[in-house]
Amino acid sequence: MFFHLALFCSSLVAFCQERRCDSVIDSSFTSFNQEIELLIAKKKKNQHRLRTEETVYVIPVVFHIIHNGEPMNQGLNLSMAQVYSQFEVLNQDFRRRNSDSLRTPKKFGGVAADTKIEFALARIDPLGVRMKEIGIHRYNGGRNIWNRTDFEALVKPPTIWNPTEYLNIWVTDLSGLLGYSKFPTGSGLQEGGGWEQSPNGAVTDGVVIDFQAFGSNKTIRQFNLRTKYSLGRTLTHEIGHFLGLIHISGDGGCEKDDFCEDTPLQDGNSYDCKGGLVSCGAENMVQNYMDYSDDTCMNLFTKEQALRMKTVLENSIRRKELLLSKVAIKPVNPNPANSILLFPNPAIKFVNIDYDNITIQSYLIYNQLGQILRQQQVSEKLYTIDFDGLSAGLYFMVFYMDKKIEIQKLLLLDQVN
Ligand SMILES: [Zn+2]
Repeated sequence: MFFHLALFCSSLVAFCQERRCDSVIDSSFTSFNQEIELLIAKKKKNQHRLRTEETVYVIPVVFHIIHNGEPMNQGLNLSMAQVYSQFEVLNQDFRRRNSDSLRTPKKFGGVAADTKIEFALARIDPLGVRMKEIGIHRYNGGRNIWNRTDFEALVKPPTIWNPTEYLNIWVTDLSGLLGYSKFPTGSGLQEGGGWEQSPNGAVTDGVVIDFQAFGSNKTIRQFNLRTKYSLGRTLTHEIGHFLGLIHISGDGGCEKDDFCEDTPLQDGNSYDCKGGLVSCGAENMVQNYMDYSDDTCMNLFTKEQALRMKTVLENSIRRKELLLSKVAIKPVNPNPANSILLFPNPAIKFVNIDYDNITIQSYLIYNQLGQILRQQQVSEKLYTIDFDGLSAGLYFMVFYMDKKIEIQKLLLLDQVN
């Protein structure tokens, strides 16, 4: 038997058009929750002895861009820039490196947490081949718009990558819904290390998100996003569900809880951007990623939420395995003199870029005649450069950093198609 986290939607259709999510917990949730509570209590008891809360966990992600045959950068076939803008938001929000963390009200500042959970882009596909666009898999689903039932049946099974190695995130047009996520289904406490309530779990696990609530317009780039959901917080919220969090209201009245002691009881989800709302005798934490507020208002997870997510990651089926995945390992830079690694090189159409602890401000691409073919300011971290439109040959890439310039050669091969 299933019950719905957002029952109120059936009578309030207006909200449903812009409800934040449609994540459904099933009948296994109660027993899952009881077990996870036990594990959390145990962790708390041992916390003074354990240093595990300092450990940073890294989850490899793949973004499946489900389009309808459009050329890249058009319609549902989203640009790399949009995908990577979303990826940056995840790491900022989960590590509390979001610049609007300063806007967390003082009264909640003490419970705001760096969850110590990070995300890494998949670099190796299920066949073991290095990916052309790191972290991105494009798939023609043959439709402009999807409902949940069809998406679960027709898109997920043929596109899912091994959910014990990748957190699968699908992006498409969800007919007005912002997104939904699969909750963890086992705590690991049960005999056998977790159980499978849903027979389809292994082919449907992950997160689905609407293309107009995916990515961030915070920087100079302007993607086609809904105004209220234009900072990438829908995915932060949905991954909270994927790691066992529920809405801070518990989706009920004051008697319903989210099982996190440092979030206030709320008599319902908060909408818009209403700071100072009071319910159940306390101020609503509208800034919490697991409420329903607009993206501009959201800016924190709490310590208890972080503890719960880490406990799920350590114990639950298709969560704990992610921590051992090797699909996001970075290649070693064969030339230690370079601070930037370009790969593959020779390349076909795309080259991936790896660098740490430096800021690239702009780059140029020259040909052998010294002609400048591309000149690009860089406002976000670069992950991949698209060479589409350039013919095969030798090119020079010049990267301008804060205090230095780095020049590298790149050989572009013929595109087969
Ligand atoms: Zn939700």
